[in-house]
Order: sequence, then structure tokens, then C-alpha cells
Amino acid sequence: MQIKKQTKGKALAKAKKLGQKATINLIKEKVLLGRGGAGFPTGTKWEMVYNEPEKEKYLICNADEGEPGTFKDKFILEKNPELVIEGIKIAMFAIGAKKAFIYLRGEYEYLENRLKKLIKKANIEIVVGAGAYICGDETAILESIEGKRGQARLKPPFPTVKGLYGKPTAINNVETLANVPLAIYYKDWNPNLRLYSLSGNVTKPGIYELPLGTKLCDLIKLGKPKNKIKAIYFGCFGGCMPHCEKTKLTPDDICGKDCIHGAGTIIAVDEKHSIVDVATNIAKFYEFESCGKCTPCREGTMRILALLENISLKNADMKDLNTLQELAEVIKETSFCGLGQTSTNHLLTALKYFRKEFEERIKEQKDRRRIR
Ligand code: SF4
Repeated sequence: MQIKKQTKGKALAKAKKLGQKATINLIKEKVLLGRGGAGFPTGTKWEMVYNEPEKEKYLICNADEGEPGTFKDKFILEKNPELVIEGIKIAMFAIGAKKAFIYLRGEYEYLENRLKKLIKKANIEIVVGAGAYICGDETAILESIEGKRGQARLKPPFPTVKGLYGKPTAINNVETLANVPLAIYYKDWNPNLRLYSLSGNVTKPGIYELPLGTKLCDLIKLGKPKNKIKAIYFGCFGGCMPHCEKTKLTPDDICGKDCIHGAGTIIAVDEKHSIVDVATNIAKFYEFESCGKCTPCREGTMRILALLENISLKNADMKDLNTLQELAEVIKETSFCGLGQTSTNHLLTALKYFRKEFEERIKEQKDRRRIR
């Protein structure tokens, strides 16, 4: 596995020898794209912070991995934390930051002591989150580190211009930073190798390192499912699509099906499970995690859950499916931050590809009522 390789400080030494600008250029040349979900070029982000005239700058390692079904950063922090710390030091050097923060997911607190030992005298502070999904958002992290309630900020200004304490800040994901020393030190570093978190109805869930472009069905085969897989969820925010032999693991191929490749999260759902039940479970998650700041997301996620529970258990009508669809589209278009904007992707794609299951559930309920 590429991500298990070590560089033992040699990449940091090489970066210091190259200088700030050349290190940034090297990361740009190596095409290291962010691994937190958005895929923004890391070198370009660093360059933006480097070019800011402010003297005080910060680097944040986003270790608040909260997307359901995603556990790749946990894997890296457990198996090769040395690489992450070296990546942080290189990033600090490249952008000119005197201080860095590791924003650690509350559930990963058990990793704090090990990280502290590796940090030694470097100016890196660990902040343990309280378990809110919204704090994975880059601007909500800033609020949380500043001691405020974790809620998203309005963009622009972007954190690279006005981030932590109003200063230019680069925020990079754990996997991105772990790849920095590898990209700098190894000539044969492969930017296309990705970590996929595979879970759901498979007997061998886990982390699989595969090149972009691998067939999705080959990854599913590695997970050894017992039953036929009918749907793939790309985490909760990435939406779902029917399992197809031809689909390749590339952002373009998956986007063509209205889904988001994101952080490489694959949740397989087999034919024994109902998409209506999966949608209801995900809706519960978003209703719980909505921070409440804006009305479309706060009220909308509650209404989506109520409608889905009604379809699942009670007294729904076919026209409720249209209401569900309209509401999901409004929430997507009008919510303040990424959480709300993506909270209905799973539902819109489920209604597009698996609408029949929703209609059948409503029909079943109606038939039952008639018999009574
Ligand atoms: S979209 Fe949701 S999570 Fe984002 S600010 Fe609005 S209420 Fe909060």
C-alpha cells in the first residue's frame, strides 16, 4: 500500500532544501488533489495562502471525518500518523505558517496521545471536536477552533484569505497531508491511487487502495457480498445509483449518474434491503445533524424525515412523493452551507433510480388499510 510507506523526515528535509515556492510548485506538478471530498488542487491552495501579504498564517489538518461510511482518515492516523505529521510540517513550511492545528473528530480522541508524542516540539495543537458533523465543513472548523459554536461561515471570503482569527489559512484533509511527503520524496508516487472505505452489505468491509478508473464492480467483489448488490451509496451526501458493471471509479463517471465521488466512500446495499428504509435512516441523520442556523435546512430536514416515516410506516399518498421531491430540491437550492445543500442528494437520486420502491411501499400500505 502506497499510504503505508515511510519518509522519516527526508521529505521535510528535501522541501526545506527546495524552498517554499519550489515546494509548492512541486506539489502542483505532482497534481495532488484534496482527498476530503472537493478535490481542490493542494498546491494551488497553498499558493493562495503563501501569496497573502499577512505575516500570521495558519495550517489546519481536518481530521473531523464524520461522513457515514468514511473511515480512511482513521486508518491513516492509526497506521501511519508519522506521515501526517511530516505532511503538516511541510505544509506549514511551504505556506509560512508558524502554527498548525489538528482538528480531531471527537470519536477519534483515543488517537490524541499518540499524535502528541509524534508532534514533539513542533507548534501543532490538537483540538478535539465534540462530534458535530457540521464541523467537517472548513469554515465551521474555524468557528469551533476559535471557541465558538461550530457553524458554517458565509463565503467569500475564503479561508485562504480570511480564515482562522481572520488570517490566511490552509485547511487540508488527513489523507491529503499524508500524501504530501510521499509526493515530495518518491519519484514513482502515484496521484491516482485512492483509499476507498467500503461498507454496507458486504462480508469484507474495510479500506481498499485502488487506482482511479477501477471498475466499481471489482471493488464490490473484493468486499465479498452475500447477496446481489442493487445500489451504491457514495456516503450520505454523494447520493446513490444502481450498481452497474460498467461504472468506473472516476469523478466524471460517477457524476454522470448524478452522484459525487467525494472522499471515496462506498456503501453497498443488497436486494434484501429497501431503499425506502435506507432513505429514512439517512434522513434521520441529517435531521439530527442540521445545525439549525438556516430555515430551509432546519425545517426542511424535519419535514423530509416526517414524510419518509409516513411513507415507511403510516398513511402516505402518491402525491407525497411529489412533495418529497419538491422539498428536496428547495433544500438543495436554498440552504446556507454544504450540509443542507447536499442533504437531499441521497433522496433525489433514490427517487430518480428507485422510485418504484417508494411507490410499491405506498401501495402496500394502502392495500393493508383496505383489508382492515
Ligand atoms: S444548511 Fe443546515 S447545517 Fe448549514 S447552516 Fe443551514 S442549518 Fe446549518
